Amino acid sequence: MTAAASLDFDPNTLDVPAGHFVGGRLVERPGEAILVLRPSDHQPIGTLSDGGEAVVDEAVAAAKAGLAASRWATVSPRERARVLHRFADVVEANAPALARLEAANSTRPIAETSVRDAVRTAGVIRYYAEFCDKLEGDITATEGSVLSLVKGEPYGIVGAVVPWNFPMITAAWKFAPALAAGNAVVMKTSELTPFSLIALAVLSPEAGLPAGLLNVVNGLGHTTGSAIVRHPDIRKISFTGSTATGAKLMAEAALNGLKPVTLELGGKSPQLVFADAADLDAVAGHVARGFLGNAGQVCTAGSRLVVQRSVAEPLIEKIEASCAAVRAGPTWEGATTFSPIVSARQAERIDQLVRATIAEGATARIGGRPLEARNAGAWYAPTILEGVTEAMTGFREEFFGPVLSVHRFDDVDEGIAMAGHPVYGLAASVYTADIGKALRASDRIAAGMVWVNHHGRAPEFTFPAGGFNGSGFGKDMGRAGIEGFQRQKAVWIDYAA
Ligand code: NAD
Repeated sequence: MTAAASLDFDPNTLDVPAGHFVGGRLVERPGEAILVLRPSDHQPIGTLSDGGEAVVDEAVAAAKAGLAASRWATVSPRERARVLHRFADVVEANAPALARLEAANSTRPIAETSVRDAVRTAGVIRYYAEFCDKLEGDITATEGSVLSLVKGEPYGIVGAVVPWNFPMITAAWKFAPALAAGNAVVMKTSELTPFSLIALAVLSPEAGLPAGLLNVVNGLGHTTGSAIVRHPDIRKISFTGSTATGAKLMAEAALNGLKPVTLELGGKSPQLVFADAADLDAVAGHVARGFLGNAGQVCTAGSRLVVQRSVAEPLIEKIEASCAAVRAGPTWEGATTFSPIVSARQAERIDQLVRATIAEGATARIGGRPLEARNAGAWYAPTILEGVTEAMTGFREEFFGPVLSVHRFDDVDEGIAMAGHPVYGLAASVYTADIGKALRASDRIAAGMVWVNHHGRAPEFTFPAGGFNGSGFGKDMGRAGIEGFQRQKAVWIDYAA
């Protein structure tokens, strides 16, 4: 058996958790039933019920009781760290099962979930466990006999809402720092991919995480998600998802308690290639992975290739070769390297955006159509579009599929200007052998993350993720990721008397 084949598994034999995870246990509650399909074959993997306000109320009550009983916000930071390290241990011990569940329910192939998603989720928890006793305040400059302290304190109960494209790890980016900072969490999974996060939460009592500190509720956005945003006892909201939903959510958070929000939203990220990039083969590999990974269903997908004209043709030919080499297949086969699209509806949306862009005058060099699938899942062909102008659908809209538009430039300033986008500013990559040029370009591109000679997050947890402009604000991960779950209090002590 090859190494890849040894990862194969039967998706019909998995333990799929049922219910909401509230107050340290799974609870079944009445609610509209939602059938959840596996993206790879559109067969049911399980059902969930839309929790709505009733389950969110129950989760908030459990969070309040859990905070009070455990004194989580005020126990010694080392005790919080100890519990979170144990949580990371338990997640690591269960990583193979979590990886299979993630692969079966989502678009993430087992070859990736088995070495990345589950393992890195444990890593995120461990990274933030280490922060617990390293968050320090300030003493500000004052006149004599005054001590002016600035200290971070937890919000209390925080809410989080996450999307379907990296279900476990995106959730960990939020619940791990929130817990490490001393909060309790009420979060909603995506209705398309709920099961890995529920299974992860089910492991938390085994690690000794006090009941009620981590609650995961299931349901739809406009019902259960909105109930989290509106709940008066939830004091901060952290959201990852589309720009349109983020805007709606921010308005709702403002009108219901003026809650601060962190928004990790969509992107239209450029990959800017200068002619002096050192190794065109390596660049082609990065560019291809940058828009083909998870079949483009990545917020930071490098969906616009902005390339200096003199190297454009050879580079695109190499990228086309990478596109031809993808292996589309079910996520439970170890040999699969190319993900299905999460749902038939999403695949149809990608196709409509591509067809609209072509109708407006662009041409498809390759792809531009769904891929024939071996089974009932939906795959979209790797697609490279030429002639996409700023007025076209394909420039304005996020495809969230394996689609790359090509934009050629002649001089450096023109390239940097073309890398900008009127709406989005999530990420960008710059390829050049000249580090000065790379840094000057990164200074001038309005994006929250810039990679040089690389595209996509590195496995380190220290790099804060988050965008500018229509891609949102606030950061997940890094020190900023935990500071976002604290509010600052200033304390003035006059000791003259
Ligand atoms: P989405 O905005 O449709 O949904 C995201 C989550 O919000 C889901 O759990 C959904 O149920 C919930 N939701 C929907 N309406 C809501 C409402 N009114 N109130 C509260 N919650 C609501 O996004 P999606 O289609 O699940 O995910 C894809 C999008 O996410 C893309 O735009 C992608 O770029 C973005 N994304 C961004 C990042 C980032 O870090 N910037 C990471 C991953 C995905």
